[in-house]
Amino acid sequence: MSFFSTRGGACATASQAILNGLAKDGGLFVPSMFPQISLERLSTLSGTSYQNHAERILRSFLEDYSIAEIEEAVQAAYDPSAWDDHTIAPVKTLEENLHVLELFHGPTLAFKDIALQLLPHLVRMAAEKNDEKREITILTATSGDTGKAALEGFKDVPGTSCTVFYPTDGVSDVQKLQMATTGGDNTRVIGVNGNFDDAQTGVKNLFKDEAFRAKLNEMGKLPSSANSINFGRLAPQIVYYFTTYTRLVKRGALRMGQHINFVVPTGNFGDILAGYYAMRMGLPIHRLICASNQNNVLADFFESGTYDADREFFKTTSPSMDILISSNLERLLYEYADRNADKVKEWMQQLNEDKVFSIGVKRSKELKKIFWADYADDDMTAAEIRRVFDRNEYLMDPHTAVASHVLQQYRMKTGDQTTAVIVSTASPYKFAPDVAAALLGADAVEDLDFFACAKRLEKLSGVAIPKQIHELRELPVRHTATCAPDAMEAAVMEALK
Ligand SMILES: *Cc1c(COP(=O)(O)O)cnc(C)c1O
Repeated sequence: MSFFSTRGGACATASQAILNGLAKDGGLFVPSMFPQISLERLSTLSGTSYQNHAERILRSFLEDYSIAEIEEAVQAAYDPSAWDDHTIAPVKTLEENLHVLELFHGPTLAFKDIALQLLPHLVRMAAEKNDEKREITILTATSGDTGKAALEGFKDVPGTSCTVFYPTDGVSDVQKLQMATTGGDNTRVIGVNGNFDDAQTGVKNLFKDEAFRAKLNEMGKLPSSANSINFGRLAPQIVYYFTTYTRLVKRGALRMGQHINFVVPTGNFGDILAGYYAMRMGLPIHRLICASNQNNVLADFFESGTYDADREFFKTTSPSMDILISSNLERLLYEYADRNADKVKEWMQQLNEDKVFSIGVKRSKELKKIFWADYADDDMTAAEIRRVFDRNEYLMDPHTAVASHVLQQYRMKTGDQTTAVIVSTASPYKFAPDVAAALLGADAVEDLDFFACAKRLEKLSGVAIPKQIHELRELPVRHTATCAPDAMEAAVMEALK
């Protein structure tokens, strides 16, 4: 198995793809083929642990990693002591043909943990394999969930360090506190006095700056990114589509071979793309339903075949999906262009220059055979949180509620009642003020702080507040550095000393 760039250049091994993140031509690494998991193989996985599924699936893509290495990485990433559910990604049943896959039981209470607990180990091993002696120095800009998940993942992993930039005006108080209290000797957090674009542009400029790279090189450091376009973040996400399926079969909720639907709250298109890869590997998936918030570029794209990012940007109650350029879509386009990299390059160039491109009617029709898309605005999201709590006594975070709303729309508009799984990406407690406002009314929570909102939710639902939320009030604040957007280089140099 080798890896190609979606833009035609580079052929890489798995470990090179993981170490480099992006191909040199700016494309994304894609596997040369999809390894097949037959129904027989699937049956042998049924009833086994999350870790066993992860080892099987990762082995089929990461051919230049030994079985022992993959085992070691998987055991370290999914050590039950770091997860508040020993099954890692439990599936809860709401109704006979409706289930929720909970991906928020890791250290930072959001689904990014599934990939970012594993990636650092794959990176460390990739460095060894490629005789890379420098320290892998992760530099990442975050608008919220990624930063904390990257910090927790890389914390104290030998041969690596992790520096996160966040916009001082752009993350919630809890997200800020989560980052500021991170432990570990190799973690740094720097507030950039500006918005997310300032922080992101600043990091991109550092990566492009040859003089900066040379300075780091002299210090024995190699800059790298934990961005979601890294194949090492995608691969671990394929796993939970398989575990969900085998667990439902095991429970008698599905027959082996029966098709199911997944609905995925989508931002950068990494999570749902992993579902598509699972389907290409043979998992019986009927439909992948793509749910957006008011930033509904993807819903429009799946409807019309035209991707139009030239539009107003909205800040919503599902901030991790506030995105207009969904980077991982490029990998899907590559498949639907019959792996014609020139075509992909053309579209990406149009997107870059005009903020819009079209894939044409024929390809659009093909896409619609598998994908279906819609969106929910903030009012619909709050209403869905209430509806599900009233009907099923289940507490959903706003991202999950966006997906749940879109599934309702899908079932109503198509009449398709196929067994469906809502992919739940965050703990409701991570977004306690918005969830509490949806359930109790904005007036009732107006004067409550984050913890008071969490308490109200706990009382209402009987679901215990996760210990990570309690700890936030007690852990010492370790990271207080801030800098101006034009002083990020100096701030990194100071931090890396
Ligand atoms: C990152 C994130 C998403 C979006 O996932 P993508 O892979 O970027 O599509 C959805 N919900 C939450 C809570 C997230 O953190």
